Amino acid sequence: MNQLKINNYKGIIFDLDGVIYDITEAINKAVADCIEKYQLQVNIDEVMQEIAHLIEEIQNYPVPKIILNSYDLLKVNFLKGIRYFKKLRVGIFLFNQFSKYREESSIFEGIDELISKLHDKKLKLAILTNNKSSYAEEVLEKFNLTKYFSLIMGFNDVSEVKPSPEGILKILEEWDINPSEAIFIGDMTTDIQAGKAAKVKMICVASGLAQKEALMEGQPDILVDNTQELIKIFNF
Ligand SMILES: [Mg+2]
Repeated sequence: MNQLKINNYKGIIFDLDGVIYDITEAINKAVADCIEKYQLQVNIDEVMQEIAHLIEEIQNYPVPKIILNSYDLLKVNFLKGIRYFKKLRVGIFLFNQFSKYREESSIFEGIDELISKLHDKKLKLAILTNNKSSYAEEVLEKFNLTKYFSLIMGFNDVSEVKPSPEGILKILEEWDINPSEAIFIGDMTTDIQAGKAAKVKMICVASGLAQKEALMEGQPDILVDNTQELIKIFNF
């Protein structure tokens, strides 16, 4: 089991969806609704990460940009072989269902306690999401986590989203600390790429959106299966 010497670090950057906020069920239900309504032939586990990325990307864009980019956006495996206009209908239905189910989503069990303990240890904490920063603020507020985070960064605060290391580097600069003094916790292959490019300690949680094999290939410094395992590596 990997253990971290927490005293060696000054700051921890968290991704939001899939690390703090559990949207797995919301995506699962939205995809299940699409499969039923449009009779799609897909294996949900195989398309999870792709759909999570698609949803994340769509949330970043204003509507005109979604329409302009819809042809490329919808070039995803789970819609392969479907006519373009049906793809659009499925895509819109998927996004609406997801937005509805997301309201019922919650944070991972124990993650709030971990965040509070890290805050007690005087570590600086930040959120880096490819979503809008206002979305992150809303989620943190809903679960009483706002007070722990000194920085919340969304796609609207950077010129390049993850996998670019820009967001991480910006946070480190703001904190005035070195990459070797920081940890980034994410759940996707794009997070691993961003963390490694920024040269911070990269911890990946295989919380369900991405398949573990794909995450292993990205070679994060530490890969854990779930929130409980994540808490264990901090060894309080
Ligand atoms: Mg995530």
